[in-house]
Amino acid sequence: MKKTGSLIVISGPSGVGKSTLIGRVRARMPELEFSVSCTTRSPRNGEVDGRDYYFISEEEFSLRESRGEFIETAGVFAHRYGTLRSEVATRLEAGRSVLLDIDVQGALSIRRAAAADPVLAACAAFILIAPPDLPTLEKRLRSRASDSEDQILKRLAGARKELSFFRSYDFLIVNDDLDRASEELYMLMRSLGTRVPLITEELFS
Ligand code: 5GP
Repeated sequence: MKKTGSLIVISGPSGVGKSTLIGRVRARMPELEFSVSCTTRSPRNGEVDGRDYYFISEEEFSLRESRGEFIETAGVFAHRYGTLRSEVATRLEAGRSVLLDIDVQGALSIRRAAAADPVLAACAAFILIAPPDLPTLEKRLRSRASDSEDQILKRLAGARKELSFFRSYDFLIVNDDLDRASEELYMLMRSLGTRVPLITEELFS
C-alpha cells in the first residue's frame, strides 16, 4: 500500500517534560525520523551539532531564510529557530514519518500552510503537551534550579501564552504522570500512521 508519512508536530511549554516524553517514544519507534532544526542559540552540555540541532550563526540563519530553506521560523527566548524543508519533504513523500518538536508559533505556521496545501493537510497532526495546571509547571521550573527568577517568570508567562492556543491542536496530552503520558503519546503516534488520508492509491477497486 502506498502511503505518505505522517508529519507529527509536537509543542509544549518549557518544563512540561516534552523532551523526556519524545525521547521515550522515539526509543520505541525507531522508524520515526526526527527533523533536526537550525538554531542560533549555543549548544547546551551534551548537545551534538547535527543530532540535536544545527547550531548556526545569525548571519547564516538569515542567509538560509532568504534562500527559502525553512518551512517555518520562530523567535523563542531571544534566539531564532527554523525547520528545514530538506528535513521534511522527501521523507514524507517516501512514506517515512517525521517528528517536529517546535514551539506554538511554528506549529501555527504549519497549520496555516496546511490550509493551502492538501498533501500537508492530509499528513500533518498537531499534538500539544500540557502540564496538569500552571502551579505544577511553576514547581517543575523552580525545581530545575538552573534558571534565574527572571527566567522562570519569563518561561511561565510564555507557557501561559502557549497553552492559550490549545484549540489550534488536534490532540492534548497532559503530563501528570510520565509513564501514563508517554504510553498515551506512543499509542497516539502509532494510531496516526493508520489515517486513511495518508493512503495515496485507490484500494479494493
Ligand atoms: P530549546 O532551546 O529549549 O531546545 O527549545 C526552545 C523551544 O524552541 C522549544 O519549545 C522547541 O520546541 C522550539 N523549537 C525547536 N526547534 C524549533 C523550530 O525549528 N521551529 C520552531 N518554531 N520552534 C522550535
